[in-house]
This record gives sequence, C-alpha cells and structure tokens, in this order.
Amino acid sequence: MDARVGLGYDLHRLVKGRPLYLGGVEIPYAKGLLGHSDGDVLVHAVIDALLGAAGENDIGTLFPDTDARTAGVRSLALLDEVMAVLKKRRLRVRHVDVVVVAERPKIGPHAAAIKAVLGPRLGLRPDRLGIKAKTNEGTGTIGRGGAIACLAVVCLTPAGGRREKKSPRKAS
Ligand code: MG
Repeated sequence: MDARVGLGYDLHRLVKGRPLYLGGVEIPYAKGLLGHSDGDVLVHAVIDALLGAAGENDIGTLFPDTDARTAGVRSLALLDEVMAVLKKRRLRVRHVDVVVVAERPKIGPHAAAIKAVLGPRLGLRPDRLGIKAKTNEGTGTIGRGGAIACLAVVCLTPAGGRREKKSPRKAS
C-alpha cells in the first residue's frame, strides 16, 4: 500500500472583535483568530498536512495572504479546493489526527461538531478523524490566551486502494 503521511502546523493570534472559527465551526468566545482568511488554524493545519502528503506546494504558496480573492474567505472553501486537487490526483484521505493547543476556550465540547463538519468534507467517518485538545499549561503566548496553535497528521493512499502487483512469472 502506497501510504503517504503529511504533517501540518499553524498558529494564529487571538484578538477581540473577530468571530472564532475552529474546524469550520463558529465557537462562542470573546476573541477570534486574526488572519487574512477567517483564521481557522485547525483547517489550515489540516490543509498543510494534506498538501505535504501529496507533495504539493504549501498553503501559503497556494493561497498567499496578498491574494484579494481569499481575503475574509472561510477556510472550509480552501479545504474544498485542496480536496478537489487530491481527487484529481486520485488520492484518498484515510485518516486525520489533530491536536489543538489552546488555553481557552475549551475545545473538547466542540469536537463532535467539528467532526460533523470536517468528516464529510474529508470523506472520513468520525472514527477516522481525531480532534484532541491540549492547553499550554499557562506558559507562553498560548498559555496567556494570546494565540491558538494546531498540529495535524494525515494519511493518504491512492484512491483505488491496494494495487496488486502482477508477478512476472507464473508460480509453478
Ligand atoms: Mg494560517
């Protein structure tokens, strides 16, 4: 099986006056993530993991923050574009695992909602999509509530699954 693993990481600052989007879900909170798009750090990390596994250019190259087309765009739309690229390449997502690093708000209560939004877009059942949350134990910018970071790992395989290699000679 030609399995490809991709790793993604992203961090955005938390600021007042913006809605907070994580994994495509709007989470009620006093601050939101600063960014050229909606700042959805979770979706960005997943996108970069997908692109890395596929050997494509990274998210910053594909969707530069100087591009007026992506100003204020929902990151789910960017994810859909990346999934279209994978489909064209005949690559299928087999598994995604995510760690959100946030002091607050608590992400755990929103994990099921995030899975419900992301799962169908990635073509994954809930048991193939891990959404986990960690705090930064009060340390650093994340610990002071000034930013949220996210790590993501994905596994891709050819869409056809395992291709049997034909033996050059018939076994006797
Ligand atoms: Mg980002």
